[in-house]
Amino acid sequence: MPWFKKEKKAPIPAPGKDGAVRVPEGLWVKCPSCAQVIYNKDLLVSLQVCPKCAHHFRMTAAERLAMLLDGPWIEYDDGLRSTDPLQFTDTKPYRDRLNASIKATGRRDAVVTTSGTLDGLPVEVAAMEYSFIGGSMGVVVGEKITRAIERAVAGRVPMIIVSCSGGARMMEGALSLMQMAKVSAALARLDRAGLPYISLLTDPTTGGVTASFAMLGDLNIAEPKALIGFAGPRVIEQTIRQKLPEGFQRSEFLLEHGMLDMVVDRRELKATVARALRFMRAGGEAVPSTVPSPSPTP
Ligand SMILES: [Zn+2]
Repeated sequence: MPWFKKEKKAPIPAPGKDGAVRVPEGLWVKCPSCAQVIYNKDLLVSLQVCPKCAHHFRMTAAERLAMLLDGPWIEYDDGLRSTDPLQFTDTKPYRDRLNASIKATGRRDAVVTTSGTLDGLPVEVAAMEYSFIGGSMGVVVGEKITRAIERAVAGRVPMIIVSCSGGARMMEGALSLMQMAKVSAALARLDRAGLPYISLLTDPTTGGVTASFAMLGDLNIAEPKALIGFAGPRVIEQTIRQKLPEGFQRSEFLLEHGMLDMVVDRRELKATVARALRFMRAGGEAVPSTVPSPSPTP
């Protein structure tokens, strides 16, 4: 399901004339935005952000959690895996796709759900893994996120979901679409319990994920220039037969049009989330409501 182009890694530099100099693959990465060649270790230090042009490279779920959380985290439900309920086959059986992704990523599905602390504050965090079938949401993703939200309600801690997804997983048909309602209902329970939910939208966040939990945050915070939308720009252009405006479906455009609350550089993200959580906690517990109760109408 290659809905989005993968970021290209730089080609291995050519060996010297003597043919002796060889750089191991993956040591250097070429920035797809400014073409700067970056030493891979420097990129790790800068949280996968290009030091020259601030292009945000995609992160794995583990890198994301390491960035947000203070120390080691507790992972839940990592044994859950899809049972291929429809026995779906397109160009190849869904079961084979699952097995290939499990082998490639070491994960059993496209989300990692954890408990940990963020700047000392206890939180539940779900981080999506794009390299697992495009971060698509099937039954396992829906179930794991729902359980994470239920843990947040039970433990009275805030919920953070980091979206990085192509949307609902078509190989699970209507069952994958039902996850939109299921996760949204769990978030409504979190809301009724008076607990904050921060949605972090990263490149890309599309389809059924955008159409459900990614846009339901008390705060919706996106990384710069992330592709965020429902249908892809090409599909929309073909449908409405109009040229789309410059920057359409990118974070900055959506912020300008009121769809997001903030666009935050990844290097500032943890501090921003911590500040927001402290602000919301103070609002919920320490500050009495200043809104007068409505007087009964005569
Ligand atoms: Zn760059």
